[in-house]
Amino acid sequence: MKSLLVFDFDHTIVDGNSDTWVVRCTPEKKLPDWLRKKYNGKHWNEYMREVLGYIGDQGIKEPEIKQVMESIPYCPGMIDLLKFICQNKDRVDCIIISDSNTVFISWILEFTNTSLAFDSILTNPATFDEQGYLRIENFHSHNCPQCPDNLCKRKALVNFVADQLKVGVQYKKIIYTGDGGNDLCPIESLEENDVAMVRKGYKLEKLIGEMVERHSCSVKPLIMIWSSGEEILSYLKKCLMT
Ligand SMILES: [Mg+2]
Ligand SMILES: [Zn+2]
Repeated sequence: MKSLLVFDFDHTIVDGNSDTWVVRCTPEKKLPDWLRKKYNGKHWNEYMREVLGYIGDQGIKEPEIKQVMESIPYCPGMIDLLKFICQNKDRVDCIIISDSNTVFISWILEFTNTSLAFDSILTNPATFDEQGYLRIENFHSHNCPQCPDNLCKRKALVNFVADQLKVGVQYKKIIYTGDGGNDLCPIESLEENDVAMVRKGYKLEKLIGEMVERHSCSVKPLIMIWSSGEEILSYLKKCLMT
């Protein structure tokens, strides 16, 4: 039986946020105040549509955006980890669940030849329209009260695992790697044999800490804290050998 590796993207694979990194392609390398003020702390995807509309209005086209996105740094050790995964596809399946979008993620992975590590990328679909504007859609709709309208990572994960089961693929272990508040919901769905890899010093670590304090016995997966891809890699090597 294979294991399933699940990765968040922003601040997990890359050491930054692709949605905020993209503003570096604008002439000022930042957004005007009137646009930044439009984010109400809730509907990020709707705000990103406005940001991408603004970028299109500045006459900035696909090649310039792509070049900027390819300059986003990866987390330390992450490229080696992804290359290891590419070489061990007989033992692991690997997916991304991210609130970024298909265009940014595929550019960034292709630039380092690491896209083959992934069997599936579950994120907001994006395409360039005829005017050269990047348009993003919601990944799905859901009823989860704790997640943004466009994506509940728990639902994405549960559906992926169920679809795999329908085609005869069952996983012995799920290893979920993330850093952010929206990674808590999928981690709550993990079982005792699974692992949550939590980035040190980021919001998810704090949320998990609070959850463990509140009701320690209900936290089922093994919680591991990571600072670099190297640590995840050495755990994976041990885990895949047994
Ligand atoms: Mg993240
Ligand atoms: Zn959710």
